[in-house]
Amino acid sequence: MTDKLYYSDGELRSFEARVVSCEPEGGAWAVVLDRTALFPGGGGQDADSGTVGGLEVIGMREEDETVVHILPAPLGVGETVTGTVDWALRFPRMQSHTGEHIFSGTVHRLYNGENVGFHMGGGYMTLDFSVELSAADIARCELEANRAVWRDIAVNSLLPDGDALSALDYRSKKELHGRVRIVEIPGVDLCACCAPHCARTGEVGLIKAVDSMRHRGGTRLSLVCGAAAYSDYAALHSANAAVSAALSAKRLETAQAVERVLREAAEMHSEIGRLRRDILALKAGALPEREGNLCLFEPDLDAVTLRELVNAGVSKCSGVCAGFTGADGDYRYMIGSRSADLRAAAREINSGIAGRGGGSPARIQGSARASREEIEAFFASHSFE
Ligand SMILES: [Zn+2]
Repeated sequence: MTDKLYYSDGELRSFEARVVSCEPEGGAWAVVLDRTALFPGGGGQDADSGTVGGLEVIGMREEDETVVHILPAPLGVGETVTGTVDWALRFPRMQSHTGEHIFSGTVHRLYNGENVGFHMGGGYMTLDFSVELSAADIARCELEANRAVWRDIAVNSLLPDGDALSALDYRSKKELHGRVRIVEIPGVDLCACCAPHCARTGEVGLIKAVDSMRHRGGTRLSLVCGAAAYSDYAALHSANAAVSAALSAKRLETAQAVERVLREAAEMHSEIGRLRRDILALKAGALPEREGNLCLFEPDLDAVTLRELVNAGVSKCSGVCAGFTGADGDYRYMIGSRSADLRAAAREINSGIAGRGGGSPARIQGSARASREEIEAFFASHSFE
């Protein structure tokens, strides 16, 4: 059994230990020490990085209370070595994990909700709770959790024996056997957990819920703590500052400014639509009366406007009026006629303009892959009376 120094002191960054065993394993070496401050992973938290005897730890695992360090070279059994913990990686994870305890303990206390799922990765944590939490409930838990941070409460590690353990009312995701390690934050949380934690809640810095959704009858929440919460705030601040500058809005009024811009854009869009229809009506009205077919091309029309254009064109020609919108190789079309049976002519027309589509005797619509030049040549040389 390895003496897990990180149980009682999560802040230990280096330690001395004796090499108990060293066995070759898949091109590397599996090394057991009498004690270690390196966490092998568990409880949702990844294994530590670090060194043992000057060698980089390339993997870790735990077997029946024994921590195994995978090293690239052997160490002498009985030798005393120094180990180090990659603190830049470890500390933010402890902030996140300790923040998760504070938040989950708060949800448990205020709403009797159990934490039934937990994932840590890339700074953002996902927490699943057994109860539905409204936005107001989450805001209340968040404030309570941050108050626990501000009170800078000591985080205790307990290893109670059987009777003392069964007398404790602690949170746990599963039935536990053997020696159970309990993490206690007095007045806030009592939870079975194997991972290293901050020594005091103040080290967590900040706890912020950033997203939530209903999930399996409960709530799934995204939470950021400590350094990750700071990075999240800094990124949000930059994004908001850019919007603030672009819209000349005060920094806390960017949402209203964006709403205003979107409203104005929608009004402009509908005004532009109205003007385009007016222009097309004028264009169609100005078309000279002609014998034969009429082809009309407009770059970007919706289906309603295309139909209005074709209807106007039909009255100006003796043949069919074919309206196209889009660009060469990718047109949508609508074709109308006063006298031709377009449903009967659809196959011939589609084969002439590399198109697909159909409709009624008076009107067909579809898409065409031909170029404008090819389309105009086809309608100039064909009659559908
Ligand atoms: Zn924990």
